[in-house]
Amino acid sequence: MKRWIRVFIISGFAFAAVFLVVIQFFQTRRTVSINDNMFNIGVSHAMDDVIGQLKGESSDGATIPVRFQELDQLISDALLLNGIDIHPVVGLYDESQHSFLYSSDSRHEAELEESPYRYGFQPSDMLTNSQLFIILDFPSAQLFLQRNSGLLGYMSLFLVLIIIVLFFISLRTISNQHKLDQMKNEFISNMTHEIKTPLATIGLACEMLQDESISQDNESRHNFVGIINDENQRMRVLVETILQSAKMSKKNFRINPKEVDVHQIIDKVSKSFRLTLTNRGGTIETDLQAAPPVIEADELHLTNLVYNLIDNAIKYSTEAPHITVTTATTPGHLVLKIADQGIGISKEDQKHVFEKFYRVSTGNVHNVKGFGIGLNYVAEVVRLHHGHISLESELGKGSTFIITLPIK
Ligand code: ADP
Repeated sequence: MKRWIRVFIISGFAFAAVFLVVIQFFQTRRTVSINDNMFNIGVSHAMDDVIGQLKGESSDGATIPVRFQELDQLISDALLLNGIDIHPVVGLYDESQHSFLYSSDSRHEAELEESPYRYGFQPSDMLTNSQLFIILDFPSAQLFLQRNSGLLGYMSLFLVLIIIVLFFISLRTISNQHKLDQMKNEFISNMTHEIKTPLATIGLACEMLQDESISQDNESRHNFVGIINDENQRMRVLVETILQSAKMSKKNFRINPKEVDVHQIIDKVSKSFRLTLTNRGGTIETDLQAAPPVIEADELHLTNLVYNLIDNAIKYSTEAPHITVTTATTPGHLVLKIADQGIGISKEDQKHVFEKFYRVSTGNVHNVKGFGIGLNYVAEVVRLHHGHISLESELGKGSTFIITLPIK
């Protein structure tokens, strides 16, 4: 996906999400305000009713003898009839005395005095000229309002949260897609390079062999045939690694184990590097102590494994490569170690080198081309053989890959 399309999608999404949050905020505020008004109207209606009853103006025309304690119930019932199911603190305030004749909760008298819910009245059966006020205080009014408008608010919040989560998931998917795209391009460019080099070498060797003076010299001919053979083997393992690695990603992939001699495999693979090593002034030493050297394994994959590790040991040695291959036997296992004195791998990179497509991306390392699938393939082969692989390495000093495989 093109960069500008990614930027466009991400900013569009971010803009829409922010806009939605703002709209939801104002919408919720509006709903709260409407609910507030409806609450006030409800209280007003209820109190008109109550005062009507207190004045004896109810529909049946009867004078209701109200004792102060009954006031609470009367108000609560009237509120309930108007859809407000909360019990307010009720106070009966005498304006001339500046004192409460009654309050349902004396601890709230200060709040009652401040309350906006005050209704003046003069009950017909009270022998006083003083102006009285019924004052209500709704300590839980906020709760009531929240309960009515809150559900909507919470739902909006929930939706916004879902959108934000989806936004981040999409962002991650886009970024993964982008990484995959880059990996694919890098993979193709590396593969072309890796295949072009041996093809060029083989072409050159063939040209040399066509020259009669060289083809008649036994040693030279032997040398060039050796080069062709080595490069051919190199390409075979390369193609094999890519192919097998792709096959291994499938769920039902199986290896084909039979009795194989690990020492024979090591010998065969070491010989195929002989020429490369001679050209670079390197050596390969073997100390093969495993007894017996025979284990149950898939010959093809085990050969590729040894080939990949020795190939890496050579590739990642800047000086002349010096490689040591050792085997030993521990109870029930064969231990294979491939050590080099090359550039080594940092602690941080050691954690990732077995991941597919991972390549150490620092400076001089990457004048060496590769795919980043060799070690992943090696680790996968070890896993399929129920073995174990570990790595000991120090930057600038070299690396040792230790593979433990069960004998049976
Ligand atoms: P590549 O095709 O890049 O060699 P690998 O999966 O074989 O892919 O290796 C992954 C990375 O691990 C390499 O890019 C390299 O940086 C590092 N690496 C592997 N083997 C060695 C080694 N023997 N010495 C130093 N670094 C190594």
